[in-house]
Amino acid sequence: MKFNTKAIHGGQKHDIAYGSVMPPIYQTSTYAQTTPGGHKGYEYSRTHNPTRHALENSLASIENGNFGLAFSSGLASIDAILKLLKPGDEVISTNDLYGGTYRLFTKIYEDFGIKFHFIGMENTEHIEEYINNKTKLIWVETPTNPMLNIIDIVATVKIAKKHNVLLAVDNTFATPYLQRPLDLGADIVMHSATKYLGGHSDLVMGALIVKDKELADRLYFIQNASGAICGPQDAFLALRGIKTLHLRMQRHCENGKAIAEYLVNHPKIENVYWPGFKTHPNHNTAISQMDDFGGMVSFTTKENNYQEAIKIVENLKIFTLAESLGGVESLAGHPVSMTHASIPKEEREKAGIVDSLIRLSVGIEDKEDLILDLKRAIG
Ligand SMILES: *Cc1c(COP(=O)(O)O)cnc(C)c1O
Repeated sequence: MKFNTKAIHGGQKHDIAYGSVMPPIYQTSTYAQTTPGGHKGYEYSRTHNPTRHALENSLASIENGNFGLAFSSGLASIDAILKLLKPGDEVISTNDLYGGTYRLFTKIYEDFGIKFHFIGMENTEHIEEYINNKTKLIWVETPTNPMLNIIDIVATVKIAKKHNVLLAVDNTFATPYLQRPLDLGADIVMHSATKYLGGHSDLVMGALIVKDKELADRLYFIQNASGAICGPQDAFLALRGIKTLHLRMQRHCENGKAIAEYLVNHPKIENVYWPGFKTHPNHNTAISQMDDFGGMVSFTTKENNYQEAIKIVENLKIFTLAESLGGVESLAGHPVSMTHASIPKEEREKAGIVDSLIRLSVGIEDKEDLILDLKRAIG
């Protein structure tokens, strides 16, 4: 099956009770047993739920994995990965990463004795300098948030395999429509399904997808033992979202390109971050591992003034000023005061997250309207 077909049918069966085409929302905590242990594979909904299973099978299918796991949020799914580790273990992570991931690593797991190295991975050779016999996980986010850097997954896979270290890729920005890390050799794909997979800004959810059975079993154990599962209603919504992922992504990419090209020619704009530009430092890597460049675009102004950036995001009318991304509607954010406020200024600026940086999640409206909106707001 090719991708568009998988997005709709991958891992799906019609409901056995009445043939409903969409899986019913099994809004139940428990399942009747005929005799102790006599059940149809479902005992308790933290452990198993048919609606969640339908979604997990779809997730596995679209990422070309064998096993999918759905969690109550993206961060809950990252939390499950970290529970594979023990005190003393070390993690090497992208330095330009989702603020909440950074907070989870440094404010929770450092206290449990896990050591994190945050490094620029655009040049993957740096990674090896930080590997020692305690290194257990390499954490890659690509494209990165909000700088849209691209990290070479194949080169990172080589390093991870050579040193027998797990490699997890946060594939939230690209989605499997554009990039399939498991095919490139990564061990775990993670999603904030809150974003493009759900796609309609109506749920919060996380997902993990793996190929290896043993790794899947350890993660299922953690999912059940820690309990951060998603509910059946949200599973249904995410499954519905995935069925149009390919159509939405196509338009996100088209609109993202139009807006990046508009901004790069604007006299008040200093830098535009979008991996589709030939001048983007990792453009060739983007071409080699992505099928298109996505709908995320970040930019800075020539004045690099905090107040000016705030005014721009306040003046936008079609772009909603909001956290999050990946929905059908366009959103704008100011990382320094919003998503990345929890990252210390010095760390932030090292990664290029300066006062005037604005991040756009370009939606699937008419691009002409989006460009007019930006024109009005930037002046
Ligand atoms: C939103 C996001 C997360 C966290 O996911 P939640 O669903 O908000 O918990 C992690 N990584 C990236 C890249 C994100 O955009």
